[in-house]
Parts: sequence; structure tokens; C-alpha cells
Amino acid sequence: MSDREFYCDTCESVQLFEVPPCPDGHGTDCPELACTGCGAAVLIATFAFQPTRLADRRRRSPAGRHAA
Ligand SMILES: [Zn+2]
Ligand SMILES: [Zn+2]
Repeated sequence: MSDREFYCDTCESVQLFEVPPCPDGHGTDCPELACTGCGAAVLIATFAFQPTRLADRRRRSPAGRHAA
């Protein structure tokens, strides 16, 4: 299933978006979506989010308390 529904500014309504013919050969993995209503609007679906590398190493507490 590559069909999705999004709000199209051109159509001013929710339209069905589908992956347009991709010249890059992404196939179904292509992040581009084209409106089937006006056929012009193309949006980039960023659902393939990668977890940002948050510098979470500031909580370096000297945890050496083992309640033996
Ligand atoms: Zn593509
Ligand atoms: Zn449209």
C-alpha cells in the first residue's frame, strides 16, 4: 500500500497522495508523494525518521552505590 491521504494546499482538501514515478529508482521507498487530485503537489514524507544522536551522556553520575 503506497496510498496515503494528506491535506493538499492546491486542492484545499484532503486528497489521496501516491508515490510518483521516481527517476531515482527508489520504488516504494521513495519519500516523495504526489497529489492524485491536482497531480502537482509533491511532498516529502519524513516518516522514515532516524533517532537523533542526542548527547545524553551528561548524566554521568558516579553510581557505585551497591547496597550489599
Ligand atoms: Zn524517489
Ligand atoms: Zn492537490
